[in-house]
Amino acid sequence: MPPPLRVIVIGAAGRMGQTVVDAVANAPDMEVAAGVDVVERAAPFPWFTQVDAAFAQTRPDAAVDFTTADAAAANALAAIAAGVSPVIGTTGMTAAQVEAVRAAAAAARVGAFVAPNFALGAVLMMQMARLAAPHLHHVEIIELHHDQKIDAPSGTAARTADLIAQARGGRPAVDAPTERFTLEGVRGGVTGGVRVHSVRLPGFVAHQEVIFGGPGQTLTIRHDSTSRESFMPGVLLAVRRVRALPGLVVGLEHLLVEDGVAP
Ligand code: NAP
Repeated sequence: MPPPLRVIVIGAAGRMGQTVVDAVANAPDMEVAAGVDVVERAAPFPWFTQVDAAFAQTRPDAAVDFTTADAAAANALAAIAAGVSPVIGTTGMTAAQVEAVRAAAAAARVGAFVAPNFALGAVLMMQMARLAAPHLHHVEIIELHHDQKIDAPSGTAARTADLIAQARGGRPAVDAPTERFTLEGVRGGVTGGVRVHSVRLPGFVAHQEVIFGGPGQTLTIRHDSTSRESFMPGVLLAVRRVRALPGLVVGLEHLLVEDGVAP
């Protein structure tokens, strides 16, 4: 049997990070090489507060990142410089930050991976939205997340809007005009030519509805992550595959298409 993949979890004290630590520890072909977070914490594996020290001292195969956007971008560049493949789940990175990671991965010939959503059902929801987009010309997205989420719109909503825009060949969705507003912002924000409404409430994990409209009909595509475990098969698949990727790959759908199977 090959030696286990050694995985560093960055943001290991966070909601997603803790779930990733458990998933990696329970995967038969992986081990937690280290946890990294801003504060010290006792753990049954090495713990660091600086990524560079973690990379140098534990020499991992992959670094899974669930932190904040600016931290994730810097961590990914540090990982690539150390020859470690980043698997980035953190949302909210700017296009420029993603391009910087892409350039660094290409220059260093290190595989890297970013997914705005690691849940298989969410990936299918986005693919189905892409299928519907050229045919039904009105569409709005409602994304609902827990009240601790720091970014809006969600990375999944932004990615869905991009996929819809691509599928429509750049033609923006038809936007029903509102002639008189009595409440500012009530129609949501626009990204990729698509209106997005962000709901933040305790009790939610990660949920999204894509509602298409046409004369006399609507089509609603909805996905619900009811627990953070929904993201783990996708994270583990990415860890297994990231080192063989040709530079940066964005989106779990690319790993599924190549495998032809669910994670
Ligand atoms: P969280 O509970 O706030 O966890 C983030 C953790 O990262 C915190 O412990 C935070 O520490 C730590 N951190 C911040 N900066 C760091 C740095 N430079 N180095 C090391 N650790 C650092 O957040 P979460 O709910 O786990 O979400 C994390 C990210 O994952 C968000 O961007 C969220 O949108 C995204 N997410 C993605 C998916 C997906 O499928 N792709 C699914 C769910 C969530 P402090 O709290 O002390 O600052």
